[in-house]
Amino acid sequence: MQPPIKSWSFSVLRDFEQCPYKVYLAKVEKAPQPEVGDDPDHPLIRGDRIHKEAEAFIKGEGELTKDLRKFRSELERLAEIYPEGNLEVEKKWGFTRDWEPCDFFDSNVWLRVICDFVEHSPEEPVLFVGDHKTGKSFGKEVPHRQQQQLYGIAALMKYPDKQIASSQMWYLDEGKKSAIGRYDRHSIAPLLQRWTSRAEKMTGALTFPAKPNRSNCRFCPYSPNEAGNGRCPYGVEVQAK
Ligand code: SF4
Repeated sequence: MQPPIKSWSFSVLRDFEQCPYKVYLAKVEKAPQPEVGDDPDHPLIRGDRIHKEAEAFIKGEGELTKDLRKFRSELERLAEIYPEGNLEVEKKWGFTRDWEPCDFFDSNVWLRVICDFVEHSPEEPVLFVGDHKTGKSFGKEVPHRQQQQLYGIAALMKYPDKQIASSQMWYLDEGKKSAIGRYDRHSIAPLLQRWTSRAEKMTGALTFPAKPNRSNCRFCPYSPNEAGNGRCPYGVEVQAK
């Protein structure tokens, strides 16, 4: 039997590590998720909407909306340099199992990454990778640091002439930034190895056990809770506070 999941992204790997059955339902069974309607402030829509607004503003195709105002000066700077051609915005990168860049939809794609923006000036040896985050940062420090690391090393694989990648989270609602992560090409081999073996647990998986608990099931789209549609028979009910 062939493992059914061929590729990964940071968010799907995180889901798999929390509850493999959730990824099985989403990616293998392709079970439908609850309808979210069209409220632009619905939690499942809002983040995507604000990302699109930031992209449009940087590209000169939209206004600085109210949800972007706390990063006015940073976004204005990105909008200013965008026409110079040294800024990638919401670009979709694919990588093979050997971390070679490939098309996002290549038949051999193994890792998919979408960076919110990447500065890659030819005069600078350093790449800067930025990620917009909505909602609260509290409690998400560890996964966000891990994501910074993955995106930093992916950027170095994408740009072989660069020696260093810096990466940072911009918390648009809170108006604050994470500490900068800095990754040197000469020391990323162990990081690549670690991510490879971590991801292979998912891309090599033949079984997808459920890991029901309050924290995993609370916002799961297959749970018996408000955010879910009850599709998962193992889901734990969590009473709203
Ligand atoms: S409801 Fe809970 S056990 Fe079921 S898929 Fe979601 S997280 Fe996993």
